[in-house]
Amino acid sequence: MRQLIAGNWKMNGLLDEASAIVGPLRRGADGLGCDLLVCPPATMVMTVAHILVGSAVAVGGQDCHARPNGAHTGDVSARMLRDAGASWVILGHSERRADHGESDAAVRAKAAAAVAAGLTPIVCVGETEAERAAGRETAVVGAQLAGSLPEGFAGVVAYEPVWAIGTGRTATEADVAAMHAFIRDELVRLLGAAGAGVRILYGGSVKPSNAAALLAVPEVGGALVGGASLNAADFLAIAQAA
Ligand code: PEP
Repeated sequence: MRQLIAGNWKMNGLLDEASAIVGPLRRGADGLGCDLLVCPPATMVMTVAHILVGSAVAVGGQDCHARPNGAHTGDVSARMLRDAGASWVILGHSERRADHGESDAAVRAKAAAAVAAGLTPIVCVGETEAERAAGRETAVVGAQLAGSLPEGFAGVVAYEPVWAIGTGRTATEADVAAMHAFIRDELVRLLGAAGAGVRILYGGSVKPSNAAALLAVPEVGGALVGGASLNAADFLAIAQAA
C-alpha cells in the first residue's frame, strides 16, 4: 500500500504564504512514490484546491461538523469541505480534543458525516505524556479507537502521541512499532478483515532528518506532519523518504 504523507497546517497561513508552499508542491509531487495531502485552514481550502487541481496533491480540511447544515455558527460541515474541493478531513486531532473538548463520540459522528459527504477521514488518536508514564498508552489509544471509529470505518488512523506534537520530540522507533502493531490488532478486532487495510500514520515532530527511519517502521502507513509541512522543501523531503 502506498504511504500517505499528510500536511496539517493548523491555524497557519495567509493566501500569499499558501501559494508559496503549494506551487512547489504541485511541481514536486509528480513521480513521488507516496500519496500527498495538504490540509490548510478552512478559509483556504477552496483556493488551495484550485491551485492543485489536476495535480497529484489532494486537499483536506482539519475538522468538520457532524451535521450537514443548520444553526451551528462558525462551524463547517463535511459537505461544505467537499464543495470547496477537499477530499479528506482530519478529525479528533489532539488540539481539537483539548481546545474544544471533543469526545470520542463527537469524533465518531464527524467521521460518519465525513464518509457520507464523500470525504476520507483521518482519525487521530494518541496518549498524553502522563498517560504513557502511567503505562496506560495502549488502554487510552484502544479506548479512543473503539469510541471514535464509526461502524464500517473506511478511512485512515493517525497515531500522534500528544507529547510529540510540536515539541521536537519523537517516539522511539520501538515505541512506534509497538503502538502501530497494537493499533493494527485493534482495527482488525473492531472492523474485521477491512481493518487490515487501514493505513496507520505516525505524527509527532516528523521532519526530513527522522522521516526515513519512522516511515520504515512496520505498520507505519505514512505520516501526519504539522510544523514541517509549512515548508515546501521539508515537506517534499519527507515525502521523498516514503
Ligand atoms: C500535527 O499537527 O499533527 C503534528 C504532528 O505536528 P508536528 O509535526 O509539528 O509535531
